[in-house]
Amino acid sequence: SDHQLDYPISPDQMDWFRLYPHYYDETKKEMTQKVTIADIGCGFGGLLIKLSPSFPQDLILGMEIRVQVTNYVEDRIIALRNNHVKKNGYQNINVIRGNAMKFLPNFFEKGQLSKLFFCFPDPHFKQRKHKARIITDTLLSEYAYVLKEGGIIYTITDVKDLHEWMVKHLESHPLFERLSKEWESTDKCVEIMTNSTEEGQKVERKRGDKYIACFKRLPIPEII
Ligand code: SAM
Repeated sequence: SDHQLDYPISPDQMDWFRLYPHYYDETKKEMTQKVTIADIGCGFGGLLIKLSPSFPQDLILGMEIRVQVTNYVEDRIIALRNNHVKKNGYQNINVIRGNAMKFLPNFFEKGQLSKLFFCFPDPHFKQRKHKARIITDTLLSEYAYVLKEGGIIYTITDVKDLHEWMVKHLESHPLFERLSKEWESTDKCVEIMTNSTEEGQKVERKRGDKYIACFKRLPIPEII
């Protein structure tokens, strides 16, 4: 349960140095960069690993609730770092164990993130389980809080009903606007998330469908 999970009281209380030691300034005793990309429910880490060399200027964080899976991703990143020491490869990605549906603002400041990924989230098919879905009105307001203006929410799933659910909730939220299919076709993250996650590859093998929807974080409307 969440009682065993460690949450920082606020983002500045988090031990970011431990996750990204290459981005720590020893003299100033502070991080040189903050996390700007998050992969919610990152599973086995395929997306993090593909994003790493594509976004060398960003710190990228996976959040995963399952202990064993988180440990696996940690080991995978350590191995990759050890194999790419010369070029400091894979120093910009890491994973934490946590329930992304809780305490997200404890990890990220307002407007800190530029991209949030939801790749093949658990569908929770049954009606009475829908409240457990990772996209709900309440959670969308938290995602809007941690995303900067112009930041992007990426979603992909093979479950049509879940896709429609996510689109419905995101479209009716005042701080999100859906991006066009043309936009999707030119965005490199859409291409990466379609092909790089373990779940996405499973869907590929089964020749399943992949439904994509991306949303831009809008500015907060001015009250006149
Ligand atoms: N995104 C990965 C992919 O595409 O391969 C994994 C997809 S898998 C179907 C969904 C993942 O979300 C699982 O690894 C699960 O443990 C994780 N998850 C579910 N609820 C979560 C939550 N509240 N916080 C963090 N991770 C969660």
